[in-house]
Amino acid sequence: MTAQSFRALIVEETAPKVFSRRIGNRTIDDLPPGELLIKVHYSSLNYKDALSATGRPGVTRNYPHTPGIDAAGEVVTCADGAFVPGERVIVTGHDLGMDTAGGFGQYIRIPSTWAIRLPQGLELQESMIFGTAGFTAGLSTWQLSRSGIEPGDGEVLVTGASGGVGSIAVAVLAQAGYRVVAATGKEQEKEYLLSLGATQVIGRDEVIAGVERPLMKERWRGVVDVVGGTTLAAAVKSTSYGGTVTCCGLVGSAELPLNVYPFILRGVRLIGIDSVQCPREPRQTVWEMLAGPWKPAALAKTATECTLQELEGKIHTILKGELRGRAVINLT
Ligand code: NDP
Repeated sequence: MTAQSFRALIVEETAPKVFSRRIGNRTIDDLPPGELLIKVHYSSLNYKDALSATGRPGVTRNYPHTPGIDAAGEVVTCADGAFVPGERVIVTGHDLGMDTAGGFGQYIRIPSTWAIRLPQGLELQESMIFGTAGFTAGLSTWQLSRSGIEPGDGEVLVTGASGGVGSIAVAVLAQAGYRVVAATGKEQEKEYLLSLGATQVIGRDEVIAGVERPLMKERWRGVVDVVGGTTLAAAVKSTSYGGTVTCCGLVGSAELPLNVYPFILRGVRLIGIDSVQCPREPRQTVWEMLAGPWKPAALAKTATECTLQELEGKIHTILKGELRGRAVINLT
C-alpha cells in the first residue's frame, strides 16, 4: 500500500435499493476537497453509521460511500494553516460520514472548521469511546447543568441506558456527581449500568407506567432521553417542578404524544440536543469537560474495540438495538 492508497469500508448500491459492503482500497484523490487531510487512527460506530452502511434513507444520498460520522487522528496537511502537521484532532458531526467520506477509512479530507484539537487529558482512542454518542451525552449533561440542575438536587433519569448515548450519559452524569437512574429494556445489563455509576436501574415499562394521565407523579429533576415517543412524553410528565428534560433521539418513535400541562403547570423545560451542527464554542467546552471533570473512571468499560473487518457484525447488532456501549474501530 502506498501513502496514496488506503483501506476503507466501501458501501455500494449494486442494484436499486440493494447495498453491499466490502473492505477495499481508496486513494487520497478519491477524497472530497477540503483544507485538512487527516490520517485516521480511530473511529466509532453510531446508529447513524449503521443506517448509512445499509443504505437506509435519510442519511447518505450518494454511493459508493465510506461511512463513519466520527474520526480521531493526526493532521497530515492543512492548507489554511488552522492546524499543523502532526497535531491530534477530533472530528464529529457536520457532514462527515453522511455524504462526505467518513472515519471508516484510514484518511479523511474535510474543511478545517470541522475539526477541533484533542483536548488535554484525552487520548485519541478515548475520544472515540466518546465519539458522537459521548459528545451528545456531554451536550445533554451541559444543558442540564446550564439550566440549573445541580448534583444533589434529585434523581436524573437516562433512557436507552445500555446503548451508546445512554451508557456514556450514565457514566458522565455519575462522574459529575448526579444521582442517576438508568432505564433499560435489558434486565441482563443491570450490573453493567450499576458499574458505570447508576444508583438505580429500572425497566423501560416503569418509566411509562401511567403515561395516559395528563400529568404523572413528580420524580425526575432532570432527564436525558434518547428514545422519544411515549417514553419522552412520560419523562416530561414525571419531571418535577422547574426540572429539565433533554431530547436527542428517536429509537422508540419520532412522535411526541404530549400535552402542555408539564410546561405551564410545572415550568418543565424541554431542550433539544443537536450534535451535528453544534457551534464551535459549546463543542469545545463540552469536549474539555469530557476530557477533564466529567471523564468517567469507567470510560473504558463502555467500549469494545474492533477492526474494519470486524465492523460488519457490529453494524447488525446496533441496528437490532443490542449493542452494549460503544464500538471503537482501530484503523492503525
Ligand atoms: P444505540 O442503539 O446504541 O442505543 C439505543 C438504546 O435505546 C438501545 O440500546 C436500547 O437500550 C434502547 N432502545 C432501543 N430500541 C428501543 C425501543 N424501541 N424503545 C425503547 N428503547 C429502545 O443508539 P445510540 O445511543 O447511538 O443513539 C440513540 C439515539 O440518539 C438514536 O436515535 C440516535 O439517532 C440519536 N442520536 C442523536 C444525536 C443528536 O445529535 N441529536 C447524536 C447521537 C445519537 P436499553 O435496552 O438499555 O433500553
